[in-house]
Amino acid sequence: MAELLWETHLTMEQRQYVRIFRSAGENLLTLINDILDLSKVEAGHLELESVHFDLGDLVEKVCDIMVLKAEQKKIELVCRVAPEVPQWLVGDPLRLRQILLNLMGNAIKFTEEGEVLLEVSRAEAGQASEGKEEGTCWIRFSVKDTGIGIPADKLAKVFDSFTQVDSSVTRKYGGSGLGLAISQRLVELMGGRITVQSELGRGSDFTFTARFGLQISGEAVA
Ligand code: ADP
Repeated sequence: MAELLWETHLTMEQRQYVRIFRSAGENLLTLINDILDLSKVEAGHLELESVHFDLGDLVEKVCDIMVLKAEQKKIELVCRVAPEVPQWLVGDPLRLRQILLNLMGNAIKFTEEGEVLLEVSRAEAGQASEGKEEGTCWIRFSVKDTGIGIPADKLAKVFDSFTQVDSSVTRKYGGSGLGLAISQRLVELMGGRITVQSELGRGSDFTFTARFGLQISGEAVA
């Protein structure tokens, strides 16, 4: 309804009011979805899908969404997919997208100048948390930024639910402190691990690995 109202003839003042309640509605929806997701994971009811998808296409679409946000803040967004990364995978593309949107959204949110870099590469089985399994592959995603960074003593806490580095973060940047908690659970459901390295004032690097099935001649293996 707010969107329909937005399309009608409004005075400047009315526009301002509609803009505020539209964005309040969107924030509320995000918060409710995050709380629902977290409760589902914690109750053990979140199950991942296993469908065929095109990884290159997924990364491109995520970057298309994020590039608009980066442009608004005049920071550069770079996406690199290593040539050895298989394109045709089996897994849960919506949940993978959710993790990438969260990490890249944070990277842009907490960066005032410089760049955000998404790198996708093939992880060696040995480097990931489990051994090699036939018909599957490990992929590593890394999201680096040149933003405000995270103090060393807070690094371990950022994955806890409802946790933000300090209370001024909520006032300045908004958010609920749920995104990383959900991302961590989703990565674990994908068999992988998420880690963070960061230097205060220089930037952060969130990296996760995940296991996917490989599509073999159009047939799902995993
Ligand atoms: P939200 O972003 O909604 O607050 P998250 O769980 O995604 O919740 O992040 C938790 C906290 O971790 C953030 O509030 C912020 O303090 C810190 N954080 C996350 N990503 C970054 C980043 N790229 N740079 C600096 N701080 C970050």
